[in-house]
Amino acid sequence: MRDLLQIGTFPTRAQNLIDSEFRCHTLAQLEQDDALRNSVRGIITRSNFAVPYEVIARLPNLGIIATCGVGYDLIALDAAAEREVIVTNTPEVLNSAVAELCIGMLLALLRALPAADSFVRSGEWLRGAFPLASNLAGKHVGIVGLGRIGKEIAHRLEPFGVTLAYFGRSDQQLQWRFESDLQALARTSDVLILTSPGGAATTGMIDAAVLAELGPNGYLINIARGSVVDESGLLEALSRRTIAGAALDVFDNEPDIDTRFFDLDNVVLTPHVGSATNETRMAMARLTLDNLHSFFANGTALTPVMAAPRT
Ligand code: NAP
Repeated sequence: MRDLLQIGTFPTRAQNLIDSEFRCHTLAQLEQDDALRNSVRGIITRSNFAVPYEVIARLPNLGIIATCGVGYDLIALDAAAEREVIVTNTPEVLNSAVAELCIGMLLALLRALPAADSFVRSGEWLRGAFPLASNLAGKHVGIVGLGRIGKEIAHRLEPFGVTLAYFGRSDQQLQWRFESDLQALARTSDVLILTSPGGAATTGMIDAAVLAELGPNGYLINIARGSVVDESGLLEALSRRTIAGAALDVFDNEPDIDTRFFDLDNVVLTPHVGSATNETRMAMARLTLDNLHSFFANGTALTPVMAAPRT
């Protein structure tokens, strides 16, 4: 059985699977055994845990960083490239779960489902009717970063009778309208859905100007990364109601998020659970392990995000 550095925790079933195929150690454990630390060739982690430069530097024989998740914005890619370390993620297998969550959050936001639930439980219903909400049908929906997950969301949204458009770095020549100007997409959208990657290129992309274009009847759904949104601008827009509301699965500084969100009645908040179903997390764990097995068998990976050039 191969030794790995494990960074972060996994659900029990996934951890049992991992432990049946690899011997996992924490960095603290490896620091107590130099021979073991020097022999470790793989890291297993999850996309919401960081793999910083300093950790990569502590493992002289590292060859692969396998992250369980599709985002890899918290991995020091430069350090990995410098050392010719392969980085892998788990694309595709989580598309359905994340798209389903997105549709659920969108409907929960437009129909105020969390508030409606509280309304019934608290007995407020006896004192009057619940306020009217908004239809999804007929809305213009803009998707920012139309990749694997964004397309799954778009296909699921079509039967609701919405008009779709998208923003990204390129026109993908699809059946939906491409908009090369993010502010223009926000201006023409009732709902803006974020599905782009995190990282330096997208940090703060949804800023005060984009939120102003979305306007007082506009809704924001973020299932991408907290970093994509200028969070103080968003908090301001929500509290002043210069946008109508937001459904957020991802935040800055998770899980210790800005508590000002808790006081807002125009948000739906979930704890970064886009892929958090039993079926999907097991499929992600399986693909993560298969990437590691492939690397140990022949030096290649099944789903590399950045295959280091080998000389
Ligand atoms: P993907 O297939 O790589 O799609 C990302 C899309 O974003 C691409 O189509 C790309 O289109 C666009 N993009 C890239 N850089 C951009 C930029 N600077 N500005 C605008 N658009 C840009 O990735 P995916 O599998 O759909 O996953 C997307 C993201 O979802 C992940 O990176 C992750 O952060 C997030 N995610 C969240 C959860 C959760 O639990 N909430 C779960 C899974 C994934 P162009 O090349 O045309 O620009």
